[in-house]
Amino acid sequence: MMGWLKIVGMGPGDETLVTPQVQDALAKASDVIGYFPYVERVSERPGLRLHGSDNRFELDRAKHALQLALEGNKVIVVSSGDPGVFAMAAAVFEAVEVGPETWRTIEIDVLPGITAMLAAAARVGAPLGHDFCTINLSDNLKPWKIIEQRLRLAVEADFAMAFYNPRSKSRPQSFDKALRILNSICKDTRPVIFARAVSSPQETISIVPLTEATPHMADMRTMVIVGSSQTRIIHRPEKSAIVYTPRSLAP
Ligand code: SAH
Repeated sequence: MMGWLKIVGMGPGDETLVTPQVQDALAKASDVIGYFPYVERVSERPGLRLHGSDNRFELDRAKHALQLALEGNKVIVVSSGDPGVFAMAAAVFEAVEVGPETWRTIEIDVLPGITAMLAAAARVGAPLGHDFCTINLSDNLKPWKIIEQRLRLAVEADFAMAFYNPRSKSRPQSFDKALRILNSICKDTRPVIFARAVSSPQETISIVPLTEATPHMADMRTMVIVGSSQTRIIHRPEKSAIVYTPRSLAP
């Protein structure tokens, strides 16, 4: 019997943000593979094997999933958020590209999820309401000079920016460097949103002017959104402030 492989997004944390399509796939799976904390979000049931692994073994995990699917299993690879955003979908396709010809015969689907950037933006209003870009601030898989170049060009193009992986214990300096670059070229007090553990019980959201943003405001569970020069704040009595970027630009 032919197996299949579905690479699915579990959303940012809250179970109501897992799409029905993903829930349906999980109900039919025989094997779930992924980083431990994401696999832990899948309910155990008879006939379902859970394979949690450490974060650093993405390519091994992808190969394992492909091999299990080839052997006739119904395999799900889980990512948080969306599987195509700095996550497992690209890792699986990297493995397919260099792997044995038989892996190209496997039925593979990518099922989207709500990515952290969109969940974070929704909590404060519409900071990504006009053109924006996304940058992964981790230099694990690319040199820092590329990150710096992209940051500078994104500011020059006046994009709002959403930063994934802003800071980790092994890279305590990266977000500090990014903030220095932003402050040296932006010369304004555009809002910066720190959205931590969005949609989980640990969620915290803070909005500060760029000049007051400090490196320790971010960690590995934080999504950082930096406004464009057009991004505005609406203050409201006894309600949280709204951050939005207007859809149009004055000519
Ligand atoms: N595929 C994921 C992103 C993986 S990269 C997605 O689409 O969301 C991991 C980074 O995503 C974290 O360092 C953090 O910046 C961000 N992130 C993931 N879940 C988050 C959440 N619930 N709240 C805030 N940021 C989150």
